[in-house]
Amino acid sequence: MTHNQPKRQSRRQFIKVAAGGVIISSSLASPDTVLAEANEQTRVANPVSGDVLRTQGRLSDDGLKIVESQREIQVAGKTEVLVCGGGPAGIGAALAAARAGASVQLIEVAGCLGGVWTAGLLTKILDAENKSGIMKELLQRFAKQGSNVARSTNGTVYDPEIAKLVLEELCVDAGIKIRLHTRLVGTVLDKNRRVIAILTESKSGREAWLAERFVDCSGDGDLAAHAGCQFDVGVGTDCSCQPMSMLALLTGVEPDAIKPYIRETGSVAKRNLLQLMEENGIKPSYRAPTLRHLHSGIYSLMTNHEYGVSAFDADAITEATINARREVHEIINGLRLLGSVWKDLSVVATAEQIGVREGRRIRGRYLLTADDLANGLRHEEAVCRANFPIDVHALDESGNKEISRKFKAKGKQPYDIPYPSLVAADVDGLLMAGRCISGDFIAHSSYRVTGNSVPMGEAAGLAAAVSVKKSVMPHELKWGEIKALARL
Ligand SMILES: Cc1cc2nc3c(=O)[nH]c(=O)nc-3n(C[C@H](O)[C@H](O)[C@H](O)COP(=O)(O)OP(=O)(O)OC[C@H]3O[C@@H](n4cnc5c(N)ncnc54)[C@H](O)[C@@H]3O)c2cc1C
Repeated sequence: MTHNQPKRQSRRQFIKVAAGGVIISSSLASPDTVLAEANEQTRVANPVSGDVLRTQGRLSDDGLKIVESQREIQVAGKTEVLVCGGGPAGIGAALAAARAGASVQLIEVAGCLGGVWTAGLLTKILDAENKSGIMKELLQRFAKQGSNVARSTNGTVYDPEIAKLVLEELCVDAGIKIRLHTRLVGTVLDKNRRVIAILTESKSGREAWLAERFVDCSGDGDLAAHAGCQFDVGVGTDCSCQPMSMLALLTGVEPDAIKPYIRETGSVAKRNLLQLMEENGIKPSYRAPTLRHLHSGIYSLMTNHEYGVSAFDADAITEATINARREVHEIINGLRLLGSVWKDLSVVATAEQIGVREGRRIRGRYLLTADDLANGLRHEEAVCRANFPIDVHALDESGNKEISRKFKAKGKQPYDIPYPSLVAADVDGLLMAGRCISGDFIAHSSYRVTGNSVPMGEAAGLAAAVSVKKSVMPHELKWGEIKALARL
């Protein structure tokens, strides 16, 4: 589905041009919800303390809306670079920008850094083997501080708890200002459509953060969407996105006793596990259940699909989360009932955040396409080379034979991810990294994996820092110049 954002703004997004020429883009709400700008704040007495309370709005006459009052928002921080989202891409961006000498603020809604790596309990880093820079450094740290399994897989099978610690240590050491538990809910643009601030909500209330450059690493492209950038979602119609999955950690079985089912012993392990489940009346919604041994009898499991869930519909994500968690527990209960080696199998934890494969793909200055993958794109501004296959998880329960037939037949070769696909097309001062960069549905199904997200983040963070140093916008620099200037 292509979203023509300027058209949408009139329907869904409020933009107010204030006297100073600053554009405030609020949450993606209907224009009616902000009619209240002119309303006075109401003062009422707190019945308990007697203090004067200031209400922040009033109920509209039809009782269907809250009309918000105009208010001033405290500036909580000012840095040269602000990174929204502390997942694999955000870690790469924040570290690269900080190490290039920029002051960096990292905003993350979860209670830990790492995104799908940690809050999502992922445990496997794909397409990282040919990568240098921060990706290589992270693999080394995950291996060094992790288990025997992490060491024997060169850090690509990692422990999410170790990852949380390593990422915090690296970011703290680099001098990055980290704010957890804080969600971006709006942006502020100047009259030249340059992003100059973001708005967040947290236990500290609504806050504003100023920066010279912004990097959207929110996975879903929240910052760019709030800034009014055009974006695409899915393959063509509403919610035609890849399914969501909830990952889980398990324990209670001996690795040697269940070896044929452990992913690291070969791809036949998935078939073995599916067969075991189906022969015993367990029907997982994901037909390639993946069980990994992390260390000392702790495993990770992916075995469910939630179809047709929009990443921007909190009700739908809530329902998917509850369904997925129930399914994980039902499957584990079913396996435990088999007795024998499975008799003590239990769930250690399900992910706090259901795994979202697809959100917005923000329009950049280059659109990476399925043809680029088929042709093995070589680009003079390549920030990294991706080598992961086209991997579209079934879009519904019937599978995705049509997509597989059409695109997998064309094939894929190692291809470059060009710097301009990380630079927002519609506003200035904004870069993207990770799964929200500019690409089509098929290309996204390949480049989205975390071994590519980190180098994309590293490139975007470096570009942000260098463009501040040189007082130019990110789109005014070529990738070659950025690397050269970074060394000066
Ligand atoms: C179920 C599943 C299995 C996968 N399997 C693999 C695999 O085995 N190996 C692999 O390498 N890749 C895998 N992937 C793909 C990969 O995990 C993602 O594509 C990758 O994490 C993208 O990195 P990212 O940093 O762009 O996004 P994310 O990891 O999604 O990180 C985005 C971060 O931004 C934060 N955020 C979002 N919105 C806001 C906001 N408004 N304000 C503040 N913070 C915000 C989030 O909390 C999160 O921390 C899988 C994905 C899923 C969902």
